[in-house]
Amino acid sequence: MTEVTDVIVVGAGLAGLVAATEIADAGKRVVVVEQEGEQSLGGQAFWSFGGLFLVDSPEQRRLGIKDSYELALQDWMGTAGFDRDDDHWPRRWAEAYVAFAAGDKRDWLRAMGHRIFPVVGWAERGGYDAMGHGNSVPRFHVTWGTGPGLVEPFERRAREAQGNGLLTFKFRHRVDTLMMTNGVVDGVSGAVLEPDSIERGKSSSRQVIGDFSFRAQAVIVASGGIGGNHDLVRQNWPTRLGAPPRFMISGVPEHVDGRMIGITEAAGARLINRDRMWHYVEGIQNWNPIWPRHGIRILPGPSSMWFDATGKRLPAPLFPGSDTLGQLQYIMSTGYDYSWFILTQSIIKKEFALSGSEQNPDLTGKSWRMTIKRATNKGAPAPVEAFKQNGADFIVRDNLADLISAMNELAGNDLLSHDRVKAQIEARDREITNPYVKDAQVMNLHNARRYIGDKLIRTARPHKILDPAHGPLIAVKLNILTRKTLGGFETDLDSRVFGTSREIISGLYAAGEAAGFGGGGVHGYRSLEGTFLGGCLFSGRNAGRAAAKAVG
Ligand SMILES: Cc1cc2nc3c(=O)[nH]c(=O)nc-3n(C[C@H](O)[C@H](O)[C@H](O)COP(=O)(O)OP(=O)(O)OC[C@H]3O[C@@H](n4cnc5c(N)ncnc54)[C@H](O)[C@@H]3O)c2cc1C
Repeated sequence: MTEVTDVIVVGAGLAGLVAATEIADAGKRVVVVEQEGEQSLGGQAFWSFGGLFLVDSPEQRRLGIKDSYELALQDWMGTAGFDRDDDHWPRRWAEAYVAFAAGDKRDWLRAMGHRIFPVVGWAERGGYDAMGHGNSVPRFHVTWGTGPGLVEPFERRAREAQGNGLLTFKFRHRVDTLMMTNGVVDGVSGAVLEPDSIERGKSSSRQVIGDFSFRAQAVIVASGGIGGNHDLVRQNWPTRLGAPPRFMISGVPEHVDGRMIGITEAAGARLINRDRMWHYVEGIQNWNPIWPRHGIRILPGPSSMWFDATGKRLPAPLFPGSDTLGQLQYIMSTGYDYSWFILTQSIIKKEFALSGSEQNPDLTGKSWRMTIKRATNKGAPAPVEAFKQNGADFIVRDNLADLISAMNELAGNDLLSHDRVKAQIEARDREITNPYVKDAQVMNLHNARRYIGDKLIRTARPHKILDPAHGPLIAVKLNILTRKTLGGFETDLDSRVFGTSREIISGLYAAGEAAGFGGGGVHGYRSLEGTFLGGCLFSGRNAGRAAAKAVG
């Protein structure tokens, strides 16, 4: 039997939840169709660090950071590098999104009970010229409660709407087809999967126990990206980033499978910028994995020395936290798909953060007592220490010779020459006592510490890497970690999807990662960070409001 509603939302991730709650708020009926079980509500956002791009916020102002729409837009455009005809709508989304981040984004969330950790982070610092890539100022606002703290208000609103009979969840329902009548999308059909009580984030059963179809006046596709599907990542890998890595780890659960993207494309939707993606180069294999090939991204502070597989220091300005895709491009140009950090205990203690809600129990658990220890603790946060002790990619030694030989052993080759690495570290170390400083990374350390937030919890006091007082020495083998899909379905500002003939497909909307976080690629080639969750909020809200209006 076919159920009928006003709007169908495919995907109960953040974008889907935002869209669905807006529809219910407008008094319309909405069915949220989700292939995973109820325990996975919130999708990737639950696992996220909850970092949000905000512009000229009270948190920034309190820390003396002067930001503005104009500066943020300059940074966004320099980072995005829009250069295609297909960038018409992404560019319009970018302008609208930066206005949202400088406008009502914070107040809208705050009214729902969302709160922000007061120290603003400084991600993607760039290092080129003022019009180039990167954030001119710190803008990465971490949600108090991380990912779950961001999902929570939308889940609460969704449960209320469920109680009022306006919103219905259909978990374990996997959409296989978008239904169309006379060119208008008017429903979905697919398979009912067997119930599975597997823990959130783990791969669930794909055993089919039935089928379903639902009809509606509009369908919003909010099914996420492709990062859990390495075949698709490799297929879409752009030549400008070199050959696809042979070895990759996954920064997202397996349900980020990209399957619904193919289904929506088959219905005639126009997928643009599929070659744009955002993968990290500081991935470490999770010693305690939840999903297949589970990797964690190190959110590095600026001090670790970064070497390629052959032992050559990465060129300026490719320092930790400066330019993710620049680093990826460089690393792939070496012919190897990994690189190395070399650092000290003093650096790991202050500078290593791990992205993910489960890796930050202090912030996720909203514990001030635990969080304050980030600034005062003698050791690194417990999850970082656990990686140091158990992680397959970590090596800890008292002297450089032992460190290098263990690194060669771990890599299974002899690419690293002790003398060559030592010479580079000693040269950098000499700059620590040089008041004028030639080394751009060391200059950056001094610059970073002019920002109180960095000085407090993010940037170690500059010191010599080979000074035993700051030891032991630590090496971390860094892998490529898949995460975000920057391209997606081309939409207008109401999140209405264009078809291949560039006409709007009636009844079809897309939001979140499936829509390239807005328009088919609001980021262009690169991101300023904290912009993905925000893109889900903004495109989900636009889609929900527009669809609710359209169904009359
Ligand atoms: C560890 C981690 C840390 C992150 N940190 C940050 C951060 O700090 N800041 C930031 O901005 N971003 C961050 N992100 C990225 C951000 O969380 C995601 O990009 C965002 O949550 C994607 O939301 P979405 O709703 O578009 O998709 P998803 O969360 O992937 O949700 C899509 C849902 O659709 C369902 N679905 C897919 N296909 C079908 C189908 N055929 N039928 C039915 N259901 C289907 C899926 O099961 C899934 O539940 C992080 C991500 C991770 C994993």
